[in-house]
Amino acid sequence: MEIHHGRHHAAYVRNLNAQIEKFPELTGLSIEAIQKNISKFNTAVRNNGGGHYNHSIFWLLMAPEGKRGEPSVELESAIKAEFGSFEDFKKIFAKEGLARFGSGWAWLIVTPERKLKICSTPNQDNPLMDIPEIEHGTPILCIDLWEHAYYLKYQNKRDEYIDNWWKVVNWNEVSRRFKEAMK
Ligand code: MN
Repeated sequence: MEIHHGRHHAAYVRNLNAQIEKFPELTGLSIEAIQKNISKFNTAVRNNGGGHYNHSIFWLLMAPEGKRGEPSVELESAIKAEFGSFEDFKKIFAKEGLARFGSGWAWLIVTPERKLKICSTPNQDNPLMDIPEIEHGTPILCIDLWEHAYYLKYQNKRDEYIDNWWKVVNWNEVSRRFKEAMK
């Protein structure tokens, strides 16, 4: 995690900052606004801006023991309504993560219709981006599927990484993001 945060995520931040120096119009935009307007910018902004945004959420979506909480009543009932049961939700999410070929992310989003949906994106793309080839919505949970996220500990076993990742999910933060997205 330290290498992931201190080297991989740091590189996205460094490279995004280098783009901001070249394109002053990026300066006044929040990181969310950059995602929502990503079609206006080059591939370096898409990859590194996406990389910075995705990792920024990812770190907050994990927490140490005692600080993770439980899904809120509202989130749990929305999950059950959409996916049948909490266990089924975890299975479908893990399946989406395993099915994503190569590098990318799996997401739980709130769609513009205020529905929960599971999806995945390639590379550092995310559901906020104004690009046609992805599902759109507000991310409330995500997992990094790049090998750099798990290779040192799990080698090629992405399934074991996802299984163990559930144990550190910060449900307080997922619930907070769900509430915010449903407003
Ligand atoms: Mn990563």
